[in-house]
Amino acid sequence: LKEKGQHFICTPNPEIVMEARKDAELMSILREADLVVPDGIGVVWASKYSEIRLQERVAGYDLTQNLMADLAASEETFYFFGGAPGVAATAARKMMKYPGLKIVGVHNGYFDEKEEKKIIQDIKKKAPSILLVGLGAPKQEKWIYDNIRLAGAKVAIGVGGSFDVMAGNVKRAPKIFRRLGLEWFHRLITQPTRWRRMMRLPKFALTVLRTRGR
Ligand code: UDP
Repeated sequence: LKEKGQHFICTPNPEIVMEARKDAELMSILREADLVVPDGIGVVWASKYSEIRLQERVAGYDLTQNLMADLAASEETFYFFGGAPGVAATAARKMMKYPGLKIVGVHNGYFDEKEEKKIIQDIKKKAPSILLVGLGAPKQEKWIYDNIRLAGAKVAIGVGGSFDVMAGNVKRAPKIFRRLGLEWFHRLITQPTRWRRMMRLPKFALTVLRTRGR
């Protein structure tokens, strides 16, 4: 925030890493991101086999909550973009739990080309310090990459389904699951429709082991 220019943050989990192996555009976006934090215990585990040792998981959700808590009393402003109609607005209301937090705009994440231009104009007009984009991965990463210059925020973060959690529509795993690195398992049993996506987890583990040292 203090530096000049614009920055963007990605929070990949193993599913995104696997996606990026097939999607060259996503891979180059991850490589170019200013900050990449491991939103997935699998990524932390994989780092044991790489030159960069990651110390702990940093969930995108926690990162944004901590940013809001820390910046609530400052002049920095937020814009919530993404989620089903009404979700970002509810999330914004709920985040008033951080006294002084400045949310200057909200917009849902379902739009056509015409609407998209208006959204970009709105973000530009409101000039948020931090733009949270919750369109799901990899749509949000690509959207940020293609549009951040036009939209003009200082920092953009892809936050996945975070607005659903902030709004209270989706519950995160209980603390014990998180502490044990089992949030993914909780998601699998509570949102079984994700199982197809999660089939990538064992593939990720195998790929890490097969390519270690390279
Ligand atoms: N979403 C959206 N626009 C779209 C597709 C999805 O705003 O065109 C939102 C959706 O409503 C949900 C989020 O993106 O809030 C994706 O949530 P998910 O938990 O699947 O995110 P991920 O696992 O990718 O972090």
